[in-house]
Amino acid sequence: MPICVNCRQYLENVATIYSFTDSRIELCPACSNLSDVYIGSRNLSLLSDLVLLKPQVLRHLLYNRRAEPAQSERFRSLNPGYRHNNVNTTTHLVKLGGILVIADAFVSWVHFRADGMSFMKLLIAATLDALSYHIAVIFAVRILTVRSVSNLQISLAIFYSSFAKLFLLLLLIIADPVPQSSSTVSNVPDNFLTGMHLTDDNRKAVWNVYTSLDDDRIDRPWIVNTVVGGMSAGFGLRVLLNTPPITSTIIILSGWIARSVTLELLHMYF
Ligand SMILES: [Zn+2]
Repeated sequence: MPICVNCRQYLENVATIYSFTDSRIELCPACSNLSDVYIGSRNLSLLSDLVLLKPQVLRHLLYNRRAEPAQSERFRSLNPGYRHNNVNTTTHLVKLGGILVIADAFVSWVHFRADGMSFMKLLIAATLDALSYHIAVIFAVRILTVRSVSNLQISLAIFYSSFAKLFLLLLLIIADPVPQSSSTVSNVPDNFLTGMHLTDDNRKAVWNVYTSLDDDRIDRPWIVNTVVGGMSAGFGLRVLLNTPPITSTIIILSGWIARSVTLELLHMYF
């Protein structure tokens, strides 16, 4: 059912078609604003607002994008059986997911090609990563919330909100194109913590923590993927489910745990 993108009020319809060149957006009876200003917007302007994580654009895409607008009596009599939206939601989800998974794998390949990782392996890893994340989040939503949203809507909320993360990852390719090698671990200097009577292993562990935020060791794609990706997905799910922040956090954490387990298992085979 369509909603007002400003106040979440459920509406019969958010627009009415009067002719093929004239359709009007309805006023919301609850907040008196135009119920959905994104109707008729081009994909590019939707994308720019998606990167900025505006809740109104997420509500438009999740609730109103595929809602059938009302038709005036005259239009209905002139065009019997006309349907405005013929997009299949599952096909749309597969296309969107495919684009985002390929982009994810490409960013990983740019950053880790120095380790000899092939693009195909990274593509398989990105696909399994996305699958495990979505399945865990859907399970967590079913357990923790009572709202009647479909699994497709939950997946779409995650995909749509991950455009902000993808934008930052693509910026990383431009700003930091030098491939990283995860195998370059710097040696502990001879004079590091020598007066504290630590064993070599303990000194090495402290050195690893001490240098973990160094420019050449910090894993920027991982930080963007996990921290920014987690926050934006939590935001997308909050817009969809209208849950308290703690519930969204637990849902995202369960997805993150599933993702970490999957990646650990993949490391054993790749
Ligand atoms: Zn409203």
